Order: sequence, then C-alpha cells, then structure tokens
Amino acid sequence: MGLNIRQKILLAFLLVILVSGSAIFMIYSNSTRITKLTNMIINEDMKNILNAQKMLQHLLHTDWALSKYQLTRNPSWRNTIYRAQREFKGVFIEIKRNLVRELEKKLILAIQKLHRTYTRQIKNQIKRFEQGLIDIELQQHLRSQESVVEDIVKNLDQLIVLNVGRLEERLEQAKNLKRFNQRLSVGVILLVTFTSALLVFILNQNIIMPIKRLMDGVRKFSGGNFAAQVPVVSQDEIGELSGAFNEMAKNIKHDRQKLTALTIMDEKTQLFNFRHFKHAINEEMKRAERYHRHLSLVMIDIDHFKHYNDTNGHPMGDLLLKELSNILKESIRETDMVARFGGEEFIIMLPETTREEAVKLAESLRLRIKNHIFPMEEKQPGKDLTVSMGVAAYPSKNIVSTDTLLEKSDQALYKAKNKGRNRVSI
Ligand code: GH3
Ligand code: MG
Ligand code: MG
Repeated sequence: MGLNIRQKILLAFLLVILVSGSAIFMIYSNSTRITKLTNMIINEDMKNILNAQKMLQHLLHTDWALSKYQLTRNPSWRNTIYRAQREFKGVFIEIKRNLVRELEKKLILAIQKLHRTYTRQIKNQIKRFEQGLIDIELQQHLRSQESVVEDIVKNLDQLIVLNVGRLEERLEQAKNLKRFNQRLSVGVILLVTFTSALLVFILNQNIIMPIKRLMDGVRKFSGGNFAAQVPVVSQDEIGELSGAFNEMAKNIKHDRQKLTALTIMDEKTQLFNFRHFKHAINEEMKRAERYHRHLSLVMIDIDHFKHYNDTNGHPMGDLLLKELSNILKESIRETDMVARFGGEEFIIMLPETTREEAVKLAESLRLRIKNHIFPMEEKQPGKDLTVSMGVAAYPSKNIVSTDTLLEKSDQALYKAKNKGRNRVSI
C-alpha cells in the first residue's frame, strides 16, 4: 500500500475508534432502552395491575359491605359502602390516565359504564331497603346487581391479563437486550484486543522491522562492508530513507573505489605506482623469505628517451610511455606485477621465478619491444626504440631485503646502459 507511516497509524487508529465507538454506542443505546423498558414495566404495567387489583378489592369490599348492611342494618356499613365506592372511583381516575392502548381504553370505559349502573343499583337498593321493601323485590335487585359485579370483575381481570402479558413481553425484551449487550461487550473486548494486536503488528512490520534492517545496513556499512544495501519494501518515509541509504552507500562505494585506484595507480600509464608496488613486493619478499621461494625483479629504462622527447615533443613522449606500458601489461603473467618506477623507468616483480627464468623473460620482452614499431622510432639513434633491463633475484648473495633487491636490479640496469643499451644485464 502506498501509504506513509502516519497514514497507516491513523488508519489503524480510526478503525479501532470506529469499531469500538459504534459498539459502545450500541451498548449505551441498549442500556437506555433497558432502563426505559424497566421504567415502563414499573410505571405502566405493574401500576395498572396494582390499580386493577385495588379496584377489584374496593368493588368486592362494596359488595361485602352491602350484604353486611342488609344483614345488620347498621348504618356504619352504609358509610363503608360509600367509602369503598369513592376509593374505587379514585383508583379509576388514576388508571384511566395511565392507559394508552385502545383495548384497555375500551375495557375501562366498559368498567366505568358498568360501575355507574352498579352505583345506581346500590343507591336504589339502599333507598328501597330503607323504605322497607319486600324481600322478593330485593332478591331480584340483588341478582341483577351480581351480574353487573361479575361483568366488572371480568373486565378488570382482562385488564390485568393484558398488562401481565405486556409486562412479560417487555421483561423478555429487556432480558434479550441485556444478553445482547453482554455478548457485544465481550465482542468489543475481543475486537479491541485484536485491533491492538494488529496495530502492534503494523507498527512492527512498517516501522520497527524496517528500521532494524536499515540499522543492520548502516552497521555493516560502518563496519567496512561498502557493498551493504538494505531492502526497500515500502514506499513510505522508511522506504524513502532506505532508498536514500542505498544510493548513498553505492556512491560512497564508487567514490572509494575511485579514490583507492587513485592512490595505487599511476594516472599517465594506468600501471600501479611505485608506492603500491613497494607494498606488494614487501609482502612477496616476506613470503619468499619464510617459505624459501624465488623472487625476481626486472628494472626497465627506455633508451635515449630524452632524445625522443626532444625530437617529437613531450606529448608524443607521453603517448610512447602509454604504448610501452600496454606492452608491459600484456606481456606479464597473472601472478607478476608491473609498475611505473618513475619517469621513463618501469619495474616488474616476478614471484616464484629464478634469476635464469627472469633473464629469459626479460630477454623476450626486450625483443618484443625492439621489434614493436613505435611512432617516430626511426628518428631514434639506431632508427629503433629500445629498452635496457637489469635483473636481480632472491635468494642470492647480498640480497637481504627488498631495498637490496631493488638496488641490485638498478645496478644491473646501469650495467646494461654502460654496455651499450638495448640489452639485459644481471
Ligand atoms: P638513457 O638511454 O641513458 O636512459 O637516456 P635517456 O635520455 O633516456 O635518459 P635521461 O635520464 O637523460 O632522460 C630521461 C628523460 O625522460 C628526461 C625526461 O624529460 C623524460 N621524462 C621523464 N618523465 C617523463 C614523462 O612523464 N613524459 C615525458 N614525455 N617525458 C618524461
Ligand atoms: Mg632514466
Ligand atoms: Mg632512459
């Protein structure tokens, strides 16, 4: 994904907020709904049931007081009747206010109507009873009165049943919501744990691991491994940093190679310089001394090079130095080493080579140069461009170090010059 680290973290964070936030909101709204349901159960259903039961009680109380009054003719029972009736009406007003469903409203209206009839009947009955009416007539009144009471009781029962049903329904709903909330809470906990783990994973994959890889690369690089590179796995800041590091490492490696080449090479001839040659021959000398091996040196000097320069100019002299250097490079074996000793002098190191073998090699090289046609060589003395060579070898008398070996080869070269040039001397 082409997102940078900040965007990745932000995205993961938003995901956690979004998921847990919506779940918490759901839990919260469910809790509110549970509270609402509980309130409705207490304030509506239970209150209605309670009130209906109270009404039932008052009704039965009225009926019972009426019978008592008829039996005892005690006026205190009449007062009890009126009080029970008043209480019935009081509860009735309260319950009527509380009922919202059509069926309940219908029931309560029916109860109201029936109760009015009942009240009327009671009043009549009391009046007739007090006027001393005969028993048969009273019995008839009682029967019709009983059926009204029965109807009121039936309606009140229905009201109770309705409210009990609704209470159970709401209770079930609240229970389900509670169960759902419990499951959701567990889900949220799991989800937050999972997303947190995911966040840690993202951070590890996108920040910690790449930084570790980058640090490994930097450590390797600072430890001297200039070829060290780090994998660029993302396009974010760390990817950019890794890419920049790779580029930097590559450039440093290249510059270093160039720098190394500059310190060990002779710029004009592209042969090794004497400083590097000296280092190499010192190592080779140590090896030869330790393991009793042969090591030979050939010192080379161009004959009458001053004349060449004077005749053809310095730039032509430079070209000749380059051409001769190429011949020298091509002529030596892989284990040999050729360097520019200085000016128009060259030096060849021949490991594992005896004096005789070195002389043979030098002789064939001298012939190769003599036979090579250099530009303007016809203007040289003898119409030919030649070289003189001096050979020295280890082990031999008086040669105890690279310096004495060099000295001996230089002396041999001097000898060759003195003997008339274009020759190999020892
Ligand atoms: P001999 O046969 O005795 O060696 O004679 P020679 O002329 O070769 O020796 P001499 O030492 O008298 O002259 C060496 C000349 O090489 C002188 C110098 O200008 C020239 N020379 C040295 N280095 C360079 C160089 O880098 N380029 C050019 N063109 N000439 C150089
Ligand atoms: Mg010279
Ligand atoms: Mg010379």
